[in-house]
Amino acid sequence: MPFSETQLERYSRHFVLREIGVSGQKKLLKSKVLVIGAGALGSSALMYLAAAGIGTIGIADYDRVDLSNLQRQIIHRTDLVGTPKTISAQQTLHALNPDVACELHTKRLTVDNIQEIIAPYDFVIDATDRFEHKFLINDACVLSAKPYSHAGAVRFGGQVITYIPKQGPCLRCLLGKVPPSNESMTCSQAGVLGAVTGVIGSIQATETIKYLLGIGDLLVGKILLYDALYMQFNVFEFPRSAAHCGVCGEHPTILSLSDNRDEYEIKECGTGENA
Ligand SMILES: [Zn+2]
Repeated sequence: MPFSETQLERYSRHFVLREIGVSGQKKLLKSKVLVIGAGALGSSALMYLAAAGIGTIGIADYDRVDLSNLQRQIIHRTDLVGTPKTISAQQTLHALNPDVACELHTKRLTVDNIQEIIAPYDFVIDATDRFEHKFLINDACVLSAKPYSHAGAVRFGGQVITYIPKQGPCLRCLLGKVPPSNESMTCSQAGVLGAVTGVIGSIQATETIKYLLGIGDLLVGKILLYDALYMQFNVFEFPRSAAHCGVCGEHPTILSLSDNRDEYEIKECGTGENA
């Protein structure tokens, strides 16, 4: 299908990039990406994906916009406090780029529904704020052979890993299991500089677009660490995958998500908010 006049203008800066061009833009418009968590990481990831013309964007979130979100969750607006985040995010994306179709999943992703929800998408972005959710997404993506971007941000720093099936380690290879709640703090407990989450979410969108286009090197087998306070980016390399990993190692113990239901349950009271 040829591009319309407005599309030729809208994507003109992509067309001049040899790595994207007309064929790359067509690929992006046919792509389907799911962003889990329409919070801070999700805000910049969703907005850059929509601006880039990703044809179908899934938005999964069960929370509503709160005034305390607006310091960093730039996809939402003051007049939409109290609105489900999926609906608020959809409004911003539609206003940004009417080429994008949004699919809303206004529900908690669980052991019982996550694999069905991620199935139709080419790539998944984990933009959640709790390790219980991050391990659920990791294990669902590994078991479903689904490429995905893991990231987290807290205080003045963040990290990003890209997982591609059979090509590199997963989050569980690196961390083993959900850390005890006294070792991991969410943004609501520890605080976060809003602009830091914008950088990390933007890196997730960049990795997604590179994967969809098949260009460049991804953060596969690597972890990117960002320290905003001292303005440093560092990349550390990891072996292909850990032999002892419970989900992708040599003798996996997690053969289905329901085998491991307890680990994904949030043990203490949390706000459940996303980054
Ligand atoms: Zn693994």
